[in-house]
Amino acid sequence: MTVNMKSICAAALFLAMACSPLAAQTITSKSPHSDAHKQLLANQTKSKDQIRLIEKNTFVDLIDDEEPEPDIYTEGWNSKLVNPFKASDVPDSKVIDVTGYAMPCPGFVTSNYGYRAKFGRMHKGIDLKIQSNDTIYAAFDGKVRLTNYEAKGYGNYVIIRHPNELETVYGHLNKFLVKPDDVVKAGDPIALGGSTGRSTGPHLHFETRYMGYAINPAAIFDFANQTTHTDTYTFNKKTYTQARNYAPAATLAKAEKENPYKPSSNTRTTYTVRKGDTLAKIAKAYGMSATSLRKLNGLSAKATLRVGQKLKLR
Ligand SMILES: [Zn+2]
Repeated sequence: MTVNMKSICAAALFLAMACSPLAAQTITSKSPHSDAHKQLLANQTKSKDQIRLIEKNTFVDLIDDEEPEPDIYTEGWNSKLVNPFKASDVPDSKVIDVTGYAMPCPGFVTSNYGYRAKFGRMHKGIDLKIQSNDTIYAAFDGKVRLTNYEAKGYGNYVIIRHPNELETVYGHLNKFLVKPDDVVKAGDPIALGGSTGRSTGPHLHFETRYMGYAINPAAIFDFANQTTHTDTYTFNKKTYTQARNYAPAATLAKAEKENPYKPSSNTRTTYTVRKGDTLAKIAKAYGMSATSLRKLNGLSAKATLRVGQKLKLR
């Protein structure tokens, strides 16, 4: 990163901190200051646009400064309820079938799993960009183990237990669409996303656990391509924190050799259309409007996507 980029990052971080509480609400003041407010709002919109632009390249740097949530499995007031697993019962290695997956939301990664030196703790999930009240989907078939609220961390969260022995956790939700013991299918709506708990803006905090061990979700899922890396994930006590740097041959390998989770890789220029994609979904995942994605690719409003089609992202 150049010196210039660093100063842009610092400026964007400042703007993000300054604007995010305001961005969440609509100001409708009719006081004599309303002109001043309008001016402020106009400036604010500008700043937000700038952040969005910068975010596309450096958002991981920006959001790394957010304090990670305390671990609900071990630190919450009801962690006994949340973590029924004994570490001594966990096998050293276990092959987990992840074929029946659905992506929890179409958003891109804004904060990775991993150790945060600044706060001296782990971020045990991955943060995905959403708009407030976007639908959140069950990642696999399963049964809702609990829904809960943790003010200092995850806000409203859901834990789902899956037959493949994984558990998935979904945090900062606005509204639950399921209740404990509900049986869900992969891709079923389970909640509306939001910014409850310790959060500076709408995002989904998503965890993948095996018997309490928080696996790096990027070891199982390829969020950039909205797919899984491979059909099985082999849990190993030595490697479960590591992301995988590649995607299956069917999707990413041809298009991209570098790790899709590094900030630099968000300079990716093309996207290969996959089954079930829509223009709106792709546009959203890359932080643009469907209209601008369509224009960029010279597509008419009636154009349909075909699997394998390459779309320009910039
Ligand atoms: Zn998070």
